[in-house]
Amino acid sequence: MEQWTISSILNWTRQYFASKGIANPRLDAEVLLSHIMAKDRLHLYTNFDQPLTAEELAAYRQAVKRRVMRMPVAYINGHKEFMGLDFVVNPAVLIPRPDTEILVEAALARLSGIPAPAIADLGTGSGAIIVSLLANITAAVGTAVDISAEALAVARENAGRLGVAERLTLLRGDMLVPLAGKTFDALVANPPYIPDKDIAGLSPEVRQEPRLALRGGSDGLDFYRRLVDKGADYLNAGGFIAVEVGINQAGPVAALADDDSRLNRETIIKDYAGIERVVIFRLSI
Ligand code: GLN
Repeated sequence: MEQWTISSILNWTRQYFASKGIANPRLDAEVLLSHIMAKDRLHLYTNFDQPLTAEELAAYRQAVKRRVMRMPVAYINGHKEFMGLDFVVNPAVLIPRPDTEILVEAALARLSGIPAPAIADLGTGSGAIIVSLLANITAAVGTAVDISAEALAVARENAGRLGVAERLTLLRGDMLVPLAGKTFDALVANPPYIPDKDIAGLSPEVRQEPRLALRGGSDGLDFYRRLVDKGADYLNAGGFIAVEVGINQAGPVAALADDDSRLNRETIIKDYAGIERVVIFRLSI
């Protein structure tokens, strides 16, 4: 039987993945192998000559096969790190992106002065946004809305694993609809924002993510229109709305709060790549 070591199998996989057009071949190999070995990536580097057991090799081969089918690494491992927390994920939910941490940080900064803030997350998916907000503000209470029962099951599991389940209410429904009659200090959302015509051009990996979490209508702005139109009814005095937006959407989204709106545009925040990524609205007084 072949004797694969950590070093030799990573080198082999890097070349194999690269030949299949996978964008980050070495990184993906390391993340898959470290998950199977239940070690962090540093362990791989300090144990390069360690041979793989037969069980590890069998599990790793399966993972490599799935990755070559363009399944995202996070779905293969069933986990994704976000805001320093470990979230479970599956193909029913969008994989949390580092960009979305900008949204969470912006909300945290604005909630810090409020004693026991009430926060609603619309289209929660894995629950990454609301669960990390509740994990960081121990007095906060949250409501997570999603139209997908499968997504809510993932959000529930993450809330339990990360110790915030008692402060989180999960509601099935379409964005603001299940919140009728309730008000919050903050509404947060990373809604579907990909314009319909751009869906076909997404990477094979992103095309394995739920369409429900991606499709934002003809110009990608359908959900922002609804949110800016009705969101003010769901805010407490001084409350705000923080939304993630796609490339070149910040201006048009901010402009949805026109002169007649009960919302004011507060600011636009860029991500680490310099892309306008988050729009904040405030309830006008
Ligand atoms: N950030 C995702 C992407 O670029 C889109 C997420 C969304 O539509 N909210 O694929």
